[in-house]
Amino acid sequence: MRRSARPFSGLESLAARAPFASPLAEELACDVLERFLRYVRVDTQAAYRVPERPSTQKQLDLSRLLVDELREIGLEDAELNDGHSVFATLAGTTDTPVVGLIAHVDTTPDVSGADVSPTVHEAWGGEPIVLSGDPRQVLDPAVLPALAARVGHDIVTSDGTTLLGADDKAGIAEIMAAVAYLARTPERSRATIRVAFTVDEEVGRGAEDFDLESFGADIAYTLDGSDLGELEVETFSAASVRVTIRGLSVHPGTAKDKLVNAVKLASELVLSVPPDRLSPETTDEREGYVHPHRISGSTEEAVVDFIARDHDDALLAEHVELLERLARDVEVREPRAKVEVEVRHSYRNMRPFIEENPRVVEAAVEAIRRAGVEPRLAITRGGTDGAVLSAQGLPTPNLFTGGQEYHSVREWASVQDMGAAAATIVELAGVWEESTR
Ligand SMILES: [Zn+2]
Repeated sequence: MRRSARPFSGLESLAARAPFASPLAEELACDVLERFLRYVRVDTQAAYRVPERPSTQKQLDLSRLLVDELREIGLEDAELNDGHSVFATLAGTTDTPVVGLIAHVDTTPDVSGADVSPTVHEAWGGEPIVLSGDPRQVLDPAVLPALAARVGHDIVTSDGTTLLGADDKAGIAEIMAAVAYLARTPERSRATIRVAFTVDEEVGRGAEDFDLESFGADIAYTLDGSDLGELEVETFSAASVRVTIRGLSVHPGTAKDKLVNAVKLASELVLSVPPDRLSPETTDEREGYVHPHRISGSTEEAVVDFIARDHDDALLAEHVELLERLARDVEVREPRAKVEVEVRHSYRNMRPFIEENPRVVEAAVEAIRRAGVEPRLAITRGGTDGAVLSAQGLPTPNLFTGGQEYHSVREWASVQDMGAAAATIVELAGVWEESTR
């Protein structure tokens, strides 16, 4: 996007357009935006608790489109592989190291991703943004400090009836624009790039079937973060805990002294969780939590699904023990009930694996700086594909994308910040190439 030749149609705002972080960010922004607006229109919503993989076939619609576009850019080995990931290579001007760039095609099952209708609020003037499809949905800078800091930016939103899909189509668009730029500037020194676009990240299965050997990267980055300049080097460690309560169903007319109502026992279990601490709604920063997120069943049998999260593995184990204890207490209070607890560990904090390879952080910090942005190391209160891959031996911290308010109909993204993220990727290819000299 160039200030002189404004690429957008529609009403011109009176506000001055905010500057880009660097000339490269400005040069890349137009391509990033064009790709982003194309990708968000493809419905790629994932689904919970579906045994098949991917959890929804429609995710692959975008994967196939990306294979075609990668080949057009000149990455001729682009393919959708048996692990349902798109892999492709951009050969470097030196052979090693190989830098992986990873983003996920799916969007969260929690909010509709069908018929996304993106709007670009050009050179946004700072007034509350009322979303056109649902006027109750207002992006108010008075309560969104990240938005308030972006007066003059080109802000992309949905129409308020769906999510936008910046998580993680901003990351995809940035990788695609950066790789396209690198492919058409062969005079620029670069490390070899391996691209991966995964499925089902939002249901915690993004790195399942990920063939690390055929990917062949020495280090990698997910483009799945948020705020400008952030590099996430710590994730939660995560477990899911399913409590199944079996009661005894009897016709209510003849139930006296016989009925054991699993619905009531499940409610008691949920109410026994600490109300004022250890929950997502009462914690922040490094505090972990236990979180009942789904309850289902009948008088005969009820199931309560919890997730447990902490940055500290020992504390996570304590949270899981707490849930196991509360579940056993149900049986103590009602011995005729039968309670089963199933614990699954999903991913671990990536920090110890990243610390073994400090260069992976140093290179990203340098690349962010070269893109004209102040780098910030951050922790995330969530997980990424990179957490799983890091534990498997591929150190993979998470770079910012410029998207905000994820998993919401109020999701938004700044074009200026997306340009900066794409520029960071281009710089990263250069920084890693220099490391071989
Ligand atoms: Zn994501």
